[in-house]
Amino acid sequence: MSSFVVVALVAGVISATAWVVWVVVGVWVLSGGITFLPAVESGLARLMFDMRVPTAVELGRVRPLWESVCAAAGVDSARYTLWVEQSKELNAFAAGGRTVAITRRALDLPPRSLEAILAHELGHHLSGHSRASLLAWWYELPAQAAIWLVGMAMRVVLVVASAFARFGSAAGALAGVLLALTLLVGLIALNPWLLLMPLLSPLLAWSRRLGEYRADATAARFGYGPDLVNVLSGWLSAEHGVRRSFRVRMLSNHPATADRIRRLRAGR
Ligand SMILES: [Zn+2]
Repeated sequence: MSSFVVVALVAGVISATAWVVWVVVGVWVLSGGITFLPAVESGLARLMFDMRVPTAVELGRVRPLWESVCAAAGVDSARYTLWVEQSKELNAFAAGGRTVAITRRALDLPPRSLEAILAHELGHHLSGHSRASLLAWWYELPAQAAIWLVGMAMRVVLVVASAFARFGSAAGALAGVLLALTLLVGLIALNPWLLLMPLLSPLLAWSRRLGEYRADATAARFGYGPDLVNVLSGWLSAEHGVRRSFRVRMLSNHPATADRIRRLRAGR
């Protein structure tokens, strides 16, 4: 919604003619459709998420595993594109409508473990999470850009104000602080959701955690429950002793590993 306001404002600045503003806004609303194009998705994978196409050796290892996961799920494996992320962490993720990425280190896992992780990522795709988040990310871009710009402007104004204060110009400093406050009020008027962020963040994090449980349950349905429990148990012993505070748990996008294991064991 705030992106909508930003696009309309920018269009209004460019042209005073009403129909031009409406055309610009209309084109922007339709532009979300381009995130459905495979070429756009691969471009974003490369640029935004630091992913690369797997080497022939990597593909030789991961593709047969991905194919057997898709066979177990009864979906066409060719619908998805496999990517490798240059990271030392052991991780995997699903993005957009087709992207399945694993880190370089995940490739060293035993075959059934890697399959279990891939089955979890397929679970995200089948429930439409990753497609929806890509679309949301796209539509949030104008609002994010506006927030960034206003934030930068505020910082500049405050730096100038503190320089005035240092040279003893109280009026200059006061003017700077007032201008920064005006910018802040403008930012909130443009984006009233910002005020709700302290309430929305735990809710969003909670819905993401539910998404993780659902992806685990999907992997279990395809027969990877015990393998996923194995992988997660390995993580649990690696992270042993690390207790997450209440705040961290409320805002975390990922549920505690122990909870995921418990749910998989209980068959939920
Ligand atoms: Zn996940």
